[in-house]
Amino acid sequence: MRTSQFPLSTVKEIPADAEIASHQLMIRAGLIRKLAAGVYTWLPLGLRVLRKVEHIVREEMNKAGALEVLMPALQPAELWQETGRWEKYGPELARMKDRHERDFCLGPTHEEIITDLARNELRSYKQLPITYYQIQTKFRDEIRPRFGVMRSREFVMKDAYSFHLDQESLQATYDVMYQTYTNIFNRFGLKFRAVMADSGSIGGAVSHEFHVLAASGEDAIAFSDASDYAANIEKAEVRRPPLNRPAPSRNLEKTPTPGKKTIAEVCEFLGASASNVLKTLILVQRPADPQNSAARNVYYMVLLRGDHELNEIKLSKIIGNFDFAKDDEVEEALGCRPGYIGPVCQEHRPFLGRIIADYAVENMSDFVCGANEAGHHYTGVNWERDCSLMNEWLHDIRQIGEGDPSPDGNGNITIARGIEVGHIFQLGTKYSEAMNAAIVNEAGKNQIMVMGCYGIGISRVVAAAIEQGHDECGIIWPNELAPFQVAICPMNMYKSDRLVDTVEKVYRELTEAGIEVLLDDRKVRAGFMFSDMELIGIPHRIVIGDRGLDSGTVEYQGRTDRDSQEVPFSELVGFIKARLA
Ligand code: ATP
Ligand code: MG
Repeated sequence: MRTSQFPLSTVKEIPADAEIASHQLMIRAGLIRKLAAGVYTWLPLGLRVLRKVEHIVREEMNKAGALEVLMPALQPAELWQETGRWEKYGPELARMKDRHERDFCLGPTHEEIITDLARNELRSYKQLPITYYQIQTKFRDEIRPRFGVMRSREFVMKDAYSFHLDQESLQATYDVMYQTYTNIFNRFGLKFRAVMADSGSIGGAVSHEFHVLAASGEDAIAFSDASDYAANIEKAEVRRPPLNRPAPSRNLEKTPTPGKKTIAEVCEFLGASASNVLKTLILVQRPADPQNSAARNVYYMVLLRGDHELNEIKLSKIIGNFDFAKDDEVEEALGCRPGYIGPVCQEHRPFLGRIIADYAVENMSDFVCGANEAGHHYTGVNWERDCSLMNEWLHDIRQIGEGDPSPDGNGNITIARGIEVGHIFQLGTKYSEAMNAAIVNEAGKNQIMVMGCYGIGISRVVAAAIEQGHDECGIIWPNELAPFQVAICPMNMYKSDRLVDTVEKVYRELTEAGIEVLLDDRKVRAGFMFSDMELIGIPHRIVIGDRGLDSGTVEYQGRTDRDSQEVPFSELVGFIKARLA
C-alpha cells in the first residue's frame, strides 16, 4: 500500500474527552473517529488492526472446532422475557419498539438468541457437544462510555456458546476454550493473565477473565508471588487469619476528636495507625415499595480494619444488593451522623440492624472507633470487654491487598492492573432451563442442556494493545496486530529516478514475500514521514536514500530500537522476515 492511495488521517490535537493514552493515540493516529458518545467509526488504518484481531480469533476458534454463525443485532423482547432478563437487565439494554409497537432490543450479548437456536436446531445427544461462535456488533448503553473503544456503547465482540449433555462435557470444552484463549492472546503478542473471576449478572459458577496487563487497566488483579494463583480482586478470597488477639492493655476512653471524621484524620490526630482504627459503614436496603407505610429500611453495620477496603461484591453475596446509607439514614439507624460511628454502645442506644464484620477485625485490640457522638471517638477499645463480637458476624468481606497471604497458601499477593479483554463462563443450565432447551438423551428422555459461554472484546483488544504498547511518539504495535509491518520511507525520492527504481524494487520484493508494506510516497520531509510512521506504530522502518544506493544498503530501524542499522539490499527480505517471526 502507498500513502498516496491510503491516506493517513493523523492529527496533532488531542481530543478533550480522551483521558487515556490509547484513546488519544487512536484518534491521533487516525484509527477511529467519534460519531457520538461511545460510538465510533473505524477508519481504514484502524480497521486493518481490528480485522487482524478478528482473523486470529477466527482461526483459533475454528481450530478448536467451534462453528461460526452470525446472529442478528435486533432481538425480540419475547426471548428476553423468557429468561427474565427483559426486566432485570436495566438501562444498559437498548430497547425499542418497531412500527407495530412490538418490543425489541439491540443485543448486548446473545445467550437468549443462541439458546433459542439450539433448542430449535439440536435434537439428539449425538449432536453434542457443540460450540457456536460469532464475531458481531454489540450494543450496551453503558452508564459511562469512556476511553474510546475500550468502553463504548457499540463494539465488536466474539461471543461463543457451547452446549452439552452434562457438566463433565462442559468442563472439557471449557478447558479447550481456556487453552484457545491462551493461544489467541499469545498470538496477539500481548502480556496477559488469566484470572479467576466473578461471573456477575451473566450467571454461572466457574469463570475466568483474560486481562491484558496495563497500568491504566480498570481492574485490579491479585497474583501470588509463589504459585500460579491469580484472581480478579473482586473475586480473590481472603482466608480467615488464626485468632491471635493481644490482651487488652488500655482502658476504654472517650476522646474528643473535633472535626476528625475520616480514618486518615483520626489517625493523624490520635497518632494511631489505620490498622488500629475500626472502619464502620452503614448500609441500607430500602423497601421495594416506598408507598407502603409498613415497609422500612433494613440497616447493616459493616466493620473493617481502617486500612482495609470493603469488597462490595463479596458483601452482596452475603446480604444481597445494598446501598450506602445517606447521612439522615445513618442518623435514623444509630442516632449519630457519619464520621463518629462505631459498634460500642456504652452510653448509647444499640444499633438495631445486622452487624457484619470482616475476619481481620477479630484480631484488633486497644483500637479506636467512633463513639456515636459527634466529635468523639473511643480509644482503648477491646472486643468482649467493651463490645461484643459474635462469630456469626464474621465474614470475608474485604478486598485482598498487596502483601496479603495468597489464598492458596503459597506465597504473598501482588496487585497488578489489567484490562479485561476476554471472559469465559460455565453457565450451567441457567438459560437452557429458563428456555426449556432440551435434547433427547441416550435413554430417549428429554434432558436440559448444560451451557458455557466465551467472550472476547475484539474492539477492546485494539485499545488494550495500545495501552500496553506506546511511548511519547505514538503506538508500538506487536507484529501480529500492526496495520502494516514495514514502512518504507524514501529520502527525496522524486529527485532521483535511480532511487525510484530501487524503492519500487524493495517494495515489490517485500510485498511478494508476503510482508505488509506501507510505502510513504508523499512529497513530505523525512521528519514528517518518520513522526507519522512512529505515531501509527509501524514496527519496522526502512529508509532508502541516495547514499545507500551507492553502498547497496538501506537503513533499518525497529520501532523501539535506539539506533538504525545498515542492511544490504540482498539480505533485506530475510532480515525483515527474521524480525517478524
Ligand atoms: P466490563 O466489566 O468491562 O463491563 P463485562 O463483564 O460487562 O465487561 P462481558 O459481558 O463478559 O463483559 O463481555 C465480554 C467482553 O466484551 C469483555 O471481556 C470485554 O472485553 C468486552 N466488552 C464488554 N463491554 C464492553 C464495552 N462497553 N466496550 C467494549 N468492549 C466491551
Ligand atoms: Mg459490562
